[in-house]
Amino acid sequence: MAAIHRARSGHMQRTTFDVVIVGSGAAGGTLAAHLARRGARVAIVEGGPRVNTRTDFNTHAMPFDYPNRHIPTMRPGKPGFDSERTRGVGGKTMLWNAVALRFSQRDFKGRSSEGAGEDWPLDYTDVAPYYDIIEREVGVCGNLDHLEDLPDGVFLPPVPMKCSDLIVRRGARKLGADLIHVRKATLSVSTPTRPACHFCGNCMAGCDVVAKYNSADVHIAPAEKTGRVTVFSDSIVREVMVSKDNRATGVGFFNRVHKRDGEVSGRCVVVACGCVQSVALLLMSTSSLYPTGLANSSGALGRHFIPHFTGGIECFLKELSGAPATNDEGFLDHAYLPSFMHTRKRDYARSFGAQFNYQNHRLVGWARSVGGIGRAYKESVRQLYPAFLQFTPYGEMLPNAQSFVDLDYGELDAFGLPRARRHVHWAENERKLFNDMVNWSVAMLEQAGADILSVPAGPATNHELGGCRMGSDPRSAVVNADCRTHDVANLYVVDGSVFPSSSEKNPTHTIMALAARTAVHIAERLQKGEL
Ligand SMILES: Cc1cc2nc3c(=O)[nH]c(=O)nc-3n(C[C@H](O)[C@H](O)[C@H](O)COP(=O)(O)OP(=O)(O)OC[C@H]3O[C@@H](n4cnc5c(N)ncnc54)[C@H](O)[C@@H]3O)c2cc1C
Ligand code: SF4
Repeated sequence: MAAIHRARSGHMQRTTFDVVIVGSGAAGGTLAAHLARRGARVAIVEGGPRVNTRTDFNTHAMPFDYPNRHIPTMRPGKPGFDSERTRGVGGKTMLWNAVALRFSQRDFKGRSSEGAGEDWPLDYTDVAPYYDIIEREVGVCGNLDHLEDLPDGVFLPPVPMKCSDLIVRRGARKLGADLIHVRKATLSVSTPTRPACHFCGNCMAGCDVVAKYNSADVHIAPAEKTGRVTVFSDSIVREVMVSKDNRATGVGFFNRVHKRDGEVSGRCVVVACGCVQSVALLLMSTSSLYPTGLANSSGALGRHFIPHFTGGIECFLKELSGAPATNDEGFLDHAYLPSFMHTRKRDYARSFGAQFNYQNHRLVGWARSVGGIGRAYKESVRQLYPAFLQFTPYGEMLPNAQSFVDLDYGELDAFGLPRARRHVHWAENERKLFNDMVNWSVAMLEQAGADILSVPAGPATNHELGGCRMGSDPRSAVVNADCRTHDVANLYVVDGSVFPSSSEKNPTHTIMALAARTAVHIAERLQKGEL
């Protein structure tokens, strides 16, 4: 059992903030900035350290600079990003790939449209104005494709497709599907404060010029300049405190640098710890009012865990085998395969889309599968290098009773807190969807003239969603349509955990839109004196 000595005389901050936000990723950062603009005084309490985007990452490192070709994410000597509770100011947006897709009305109304999944208590039109706002302020590039199921937005110019994308597109079109230009929260043209992307291809190693959106530089740093946002970094929250009269009063944390306990008080608390850790924090926050976890009178906390699932296929595009190697890293993936199966006959519910070409070509793990030795081996690898392509379909998972998050008090982390445990059960719908998305992907790649190198044996989880389900009925949902918990009137949860249904589309754009929407709601309540 990991034991932490907690100093008795901890940091007790005297100010009462309007809003205390736990977590500083896409959700926490967006929320803080939007609240500050509306005059609220905000505390962000983040378990990880401050990160200097320009200097702290190994953005441009080469694999051969490190033992075993393993490039560490952070510069050696910089602590942080070493646990789910300490990802650093900016959270996962520091490392994300920035694919930014709007959900459609089909995604918000799964149960009504095909009797599977859950309906959100929101329509597309409720969220659309906030997608607009996010796109304008963070910069999302993309093409206007006029697809009903993948609504257009306020886009910067798209980036051109790569040669390999055009080859895959040919294969997709032969089967009646099509690719579109990827939509990413990355600048294709400069703005007054951020440069355009220079296509170095290191986005998931930390973009050191902030062409790619991260919440620390784009949302939190400007918000701090207003003087209305205070960041408590390295402060791992272990409890949301609730008064006897059922009001959230603030949070208790452990500062991992000073090894001290502390508290931050607020009129309102928002938990934005990145899905599973939000569930974990609420489950850890037990009291006589909430013995099974805060805001859990429904018993739904932790349940309905619905991560995306993927199935990565590796292949070689024969047409590019032996072509001169060119630097076409770009900003990783430049194209996207939107869902097409939702309009076709199939024996499962929901659908899939695919991201591909988003692996940095410097990592050539596939070379181990190439036969031969010596000069002949090197020549084979050289031939195949321009032809390698990874194709990853993403599928939507439906909620089921065997998929949930709980706490493991038998296994404590370095801070003495129970680890969050994921339980994922693939039901029949997931198995059928997985098989179909892999089969379709292989068929498209073969139509594009690919030699398939590997197909996945089973689904792998990706973006984590669910666990604090949104719904109108307090008996079955943790939060309402405003991300406010049904049980505690001044406690909110904003991140992927509130998704009642997940869609096959990447979630972060929707998380940010929900954060911007929640900020309006909280600011109005503050103004009315309700908090
Ligand atoms: C490599 C990679 C690529 C990705 N690519 C995409 C993509 O292309 N498109 C997409 O939509 N999404 C992508 N994602 C997912 C995306 O990053 C997340 O959906 C998004 O960051 C979620 O935002 P969040 O604020 O909910 O959580 P996070 O960004 O995870 O932030 C949560 C923060 O809370 C902090 N925290 C947790 N527990 C505690 C605690 N107890 N006390 C204090 N602080 C705590 C964490 O340290 C963290 O900083 C990617 C993720 C990764 C890692
Ligand atoms: S490719 Fe563009 S977005 Fe990615 S790390 Fe380089 S400059 Fe940043």
